[in-house]
Amino acid sequence: MTHTVTLIPGDGIGPEVASAMRRVVEATGVAIEWEVFDAGEAMIEKYGTPLPEHILESIRRNRVGIKGPITTPVGKGFRSVNVALRKELDLYANVRPAMSIPGVPARYEGVDLVVVRENTEGLYVGIEHDVIANEAAEAIRIITRRATERVVRFAFEYARANGRKLVTAVHKANILKLTDGLFLRVAEEVAAEYPDIAFNDRIVDALSMQLVQRPHEYDVLVLPNLFGDIVSDICSGLVGGLGVTPGANMGDGIAVFEPVHGSAPKYTGKNMVNPTATIRSGALMLRFLGETDAADRIERAVTRVIAEGRATTYDLKPRRDDPTAVGTQEMADAIIAAL
Ligand code: NAD
Repeated sequence: MTHTVTLIPGDGIGPEVASAMRRVVEATGVAIEWEVFDAGEAMIEKYGTPLPEHILESIRRNRVGIKGPITTPVGKGFRSVNVALRKELDLYANVRPAMSIPGVPARYEGVDLVVVRENTEGLYVGIEHDVIANEAAEAIRIITRRATERVVRFAFEYARANGRKLVTAVHKANILKLTDGLFLRVAEEVAAEYPDIAFNDRIVDALSMQLVQRPHEYDVLVLPNLFGDIVSDICSGLVGGLGVTPGANMGDGIAVFEPVHGSAPKYTGKNMVNPTATIRSGALMLRFLGETDAADRIERAVTRVIAEGRATTYDLKPRRDDPTAVGTQEMADAIIAAL
């Protein structure tokens, strides 16, 4: 069977890591027809938008997509394509597993966390305005019962399906009594439907400290959008950095996979960055497509190449200027050879 998948290489380092991922996925022998589209700033002149409608149509049709990172201008310019994509396709749960990989330099061994980030509301609704130009500005943060309920339920279903024992709801309900108060209350209600999975909650600042000191006490974390964004980068840092952590934006029967990291513009075109996060996102995609065997083979090949430590990129070396570091495509070649 041939799967049709929408592929958005992205910009910055996106095309490099996307091409590495594509080669590895194809090397498993799974037949995939790729519908490839560019998105981001370069599209504005031609289509008047960084996220042309034909891309959304392609993903809606195929029910599956995979993307490299896309740059969002800081403090000005157009709205994030990544956020718009999640919102337009109602990909409400952003799943970011962070697991220690033997051979990756990191603070701890045996870290095994899954961040489930609410993906459609919170501060990322992007409703901001000036109250007094240059003096005061306001942003709106929306938390709804509907979005909270489905993302918390997703976290519990994920826990059940993956043999996980604990779901922690993360919030700031001591200060944000209405918005995060609602998030916490709804999380507690949903938790009551899952007596087989333990549940607790943490205030986001305390959780951040505890993750750094005692990450083994946590399992599945479910968070509102902004906290999920920040905490998933902390979790990436615990297991070796942004170069290794994959992600999945999940809706009902539709998904778009992407690494946690961004477009790292300063590395563009240098064939330097780690393709692992995007390759592992490709493995998550194969799992979603029911190609479990190919997904397992990629995971094993990645683990082996990293454990051997010969064909790895600069970020996985003890020193960043290690002359034995290989390039993005060379690491992908080693993973293909190990498949
Ligand atoms: P970033 O993740 O792009 O890079 C931060 C640093 O992390 C890099 O300088 C590099 O040291 C390291 N890094 C990232 N990816 C790596 C890899 N594959 N291998 C090795 N090291 C890696 O974050 P940033 O610099 O804050 O953001 C750059 C741009 O990316 C911004 O425009 C931002 O909006 C965008 N962004 C996009 C997404 C997405 O597409 N989903 C996610 C995050 C950020």
